[in-house]
Amino acid sequence: MRKTLVAANWKMNGSREFAGQFFRDLDLNGVDCDVAFCPPFPYLPIVADLLQEAGRPSVSLGAQNVSEREAGAFTGEVSAAMLKDFGVRYVIVGHSERRSLFGETSELVAQKYVAAKEAGLVPILCVGETLEEREASRALEVIGSQLDAVAELAVDDCWKGAVVAYEPVWAIGTGKTATPEQAQAVHEFIRGRLGAAGEEMQIVYGGSVKSANAASLFAQPDIDGALVGGASLDAAEFAGICRAG
Ligand code: PEP
Repeated sequence: MRKTLVAANWKMNGSREFAGQFFRDLDLNGVDCDVAFCPPFPYLPIVADLLQEAGRPSVSLGAQNVSEREAGAFTGEVSAAMLKDFGVRYVIVGHSERRSLFGETSELVAQKYVAAKEAGLVPILCVGETLEEREASRALEVIGSQLDAVAELAVDDCWKGAVVAYEPVWAIGTGKTATPEQAQAVHEFIRGRLGAAGEEMQIVYGGSVKSANAASLFAQPDIDGALVGGASLDAAEFAGICRAG
């Protein structure tokens, strides 16, 4: 039985004050799923402290990006080992904003995935198609090739200890959610592509998830939770999503 995972992606939002107020407001009573917060890098230790203070040490920390390099003269980069050093458990790789705005190719995403795994982090690998690709009936082909790029580089036990997030680009931050049936069809395809490890892996959905639509998504057999952007900035809304898990 796979446990539901709800991960908050704060993107480049928040402040020290915001984080403090958020965790004072956050009420996770009655929540039974895995929960993670991926704030911007500088807030990782602050969020860790706030979780301790709130008596929520079992809630995990995640980062939004990681370098594919180990160490050295790479100004502005943050390594997987550094994240591990700060108690980070998850790291998002291949988010569509990084692919489209920062030119990250599937090959680079695969290198980041490998770096994360080698450091003992759990990569949350984001895959998903644009609206144009969906309308051209190319969604599964695109997602398949995003997964293959990782499988080609990561070889042994490639998928073990990782999470996949299906995030249709047209649903991210747009208020348009994939229907539970649309999302389920892609999740089933992804699970099939992951081989033996797929049965145990959490495959989460991302794209305008809110407390009002979370339960119907989580009711699908292959949807094991959510990666949440906009709605994760509202403590009550985010808690509502977690409660649906
Ligand atoms: C995301 O950026 O990962 C995301 C799912 O955003 P939103 O929930 O705002 O669509």
